[in-house]
Amino acid sequence: MSEPVFDKVALLGIGLIGSSMAHAMRRGGVAGHIAGYARRPETLKQAHRVGFAHSLHAEVADCVRDADLVVLATPVGSFGALAKEMASALKPGAILTDVGSVKTAVLRDVGPHVPQGVHFIPAHPIAGTEQSGPEAGFAELFDGRWCILTPPEDTDGAAIETLKEYWRRLGSKVEVMDAEHHDLVLAITSHVPHLIAYNIVGTADDLSAVTKSEVIKYSAGGFRDFTRIAASDPTMWRDVFLNNKDAVLEVLGRFSEDLSALQRAIRWGDGEALFNLFTRTRAIRRGIIDAGQDSAAPNFGRNPTHKDQ
Ligand code: NAP
Repeated sequence: MSEPVFDKVALLGIGLIGSSMAHAMRRGGVAGHIAGYARRPETLKQAHRVGFAHSLHAEVADCVRDADLVVLATPVGSFGALAKEMASALKPGAILTDVGSVKTAVLRDVGPHVPQGVHFIPAHPIAGTEQSGPEAGFAELFDGRWCILTPPEDTDGAAIETLKEYWRRLGSKVEVMDAEHHDLVLAITSHVPHLIAYNIVGTADDLSAVTKSEVIKYSAGGFRDFTRIAASDPTMWRDVFLNNKDAVLEVLGRFSEDLSALQRAIRWGDGEALFNLFTRTRAIRRGIIDAGQDSAAPNFGRNPTHKDQ
């Protein structure tokens, strides 16, 4: 096995993403010591039972002390307070990163608390499931998936290379991008699709002419795939929308216009417009399969527990 990339990695947050990172680090011998932090004793107990960390902590400072890499893996809305709390305990020369689904807000909230001599490099692994907590993680989560780094302009090049190497060793492919661009790309590929799923499932729940049992019974007609996405963690997704407001509203504006055009096509019986759009979108699905980002197998080739978002 290759040498560890870091002697000690501190994971602040040991839910789906934090625990999956720990499993992947163990699989690849990526860290000498993995320390985990969570607020609630129940979370720490679960993590202890699964056994992916070498040490578990209820205090942020204890977890990050002497760590060469510190990863914020809690909901985005908690990053600022955690960064402030840990600042004085960070080791000079350490890399501070995160896995948050938005990036401009992370630069804004965490940036001011980063001490001189600590390299702050925000990151976002584009991999996940609708499951949460320390028992949901698995080592293969990042395999073949992209991880986007959004380093501020003056970031040390060697630190960026080390973090790239770290993510590659977890199984990811790595891309570097500007934080604003990341937020716009993710608004269309992840955030607005989640909002649409939350909305359609909410609408079905409110529809009085169709009973709840009918919605569940006939869900294989398409609805079921939306419910998987709409089962995603409420706290995490609340924080995503509160922290990527501009990009989400921009994409939603476009989406609403396009939806109105579809509404018009249906009203006026414009089958050609519908057929042309559906043909174009089918080609996008093929592109995703050709790029190795999903399977052409029925039901996405997914097994019931390990699903991508
Ligand atoms: P999760 O499974 O719900 O785990 C969250 C972890 O953070 C738990 O250890 C939780 O333990 C802790 N936590 C929750 N609220 C906290 C707070 N206010 N302060 C301190 N700790 C807190 O969440 P996750 O899915 O791993 O998501 C973590 C991060 O990864 C989020 O920033 C999310 O945007 C990002 N992300 C998620 C996905 C995905 O598909 N799930 C994909 C890519 C990136 P305690 O409650 O005991 O503290």
